[in-house]
Amino acid sequence: MKLNALNKITEPFASTDKMPVLFLGHGSPMNAIEENEFVSGFRKVGNEMPKPQAILVVSAHWETRGTYVTAMDKPATIHDFGGFPKALFDVQYPAPGSPELANETRNIIQKTEVGLDYQWGLDHGAWSVVKHLYPNADVPVIQMSLDYTHAPQYHYELAKELAALRKKGVLIIGSGNMVHNLRMVAWDKLNTTDYAYDWAAEASMKMKKFIQSDNHQELINYASQGRAFQLAIPSPEHYLPLLYTLALKTEDEQISLFNDKAVAGSLTMTSVKIH
Ligand code: ZN
Repeated sequence: MKLNALNKITEPFASTDKMPVLFLGHGSPMNAIEENEFVSGFRKVGNEMPKPQAILVVSAHWETRGTYVTAMDKPATIHDFGGFPKALFDVQYPAPGSPELANETRNIIQKTEVGLDYQWGLDHGAWSVVKHLYPNADVPVIQMSLDYTHAPQYHYELAKELAALRKKGVLIIGSGNMVHNLRMVAWDKLNTTDYAYDWAAEASMKMKKFIQSDNHQELINYASQGRAFQLAIPSPEHYLPLLYTLALKTEDEQISLFNDKAVAGSLTMTSVKIH
């Protein structure tokens, strides 16, 4: 074996400055192909950051029993939705995978046995937003699944174990929506800018206050925060990626919010950059 090949196996990711961490409110899959203020927000944040060596996405749309990371060389673009125009199904995001990062992630996580997955790919929670950050699909992307059998505290602690990846040029992205209640979408207000029901506005305001004050425990205990939170988080999968992002914040770091608007009453696009 050549020496450079050996280096590649033992040290696939060189040390770098600490990468930022993102939570991206992905909203409707149509954001993948529309031009709107949220897409502009994603592009802007992509342009402001150093280009990562690889990306790890925790998406609301991949829930499993146990924790898995995608480990294939070429993840497929998964069109995991129905009822949208053909143009959306035609989108391909051919970013390479990173079996090296999948292995590295499996090795650094102590809390559970992480499985290597060869079936999934990139779901729309990943590609509909990452495509705006890196439109050339030239940064390798892996996904880590959400283990639906565990409570929020577990996810928060698991996420902390990913911290070392930030110094290896890895951009970690949680992709979901903080307020996400599809049953209550105000379809007649889809085109009204920043329209939120009272409960959605209340939950959003409190979430942002807890985020800005590093009060993560209140966010982990979201189920005890009353009616507004119950309506905002009818199921955990779109909210948990936020906890993955926040768990990686260190005391010396700043929080920047962007795309901080509501859509159709019962969704917020509010996104977080930790840097
Ligand atoms: Zn979603």
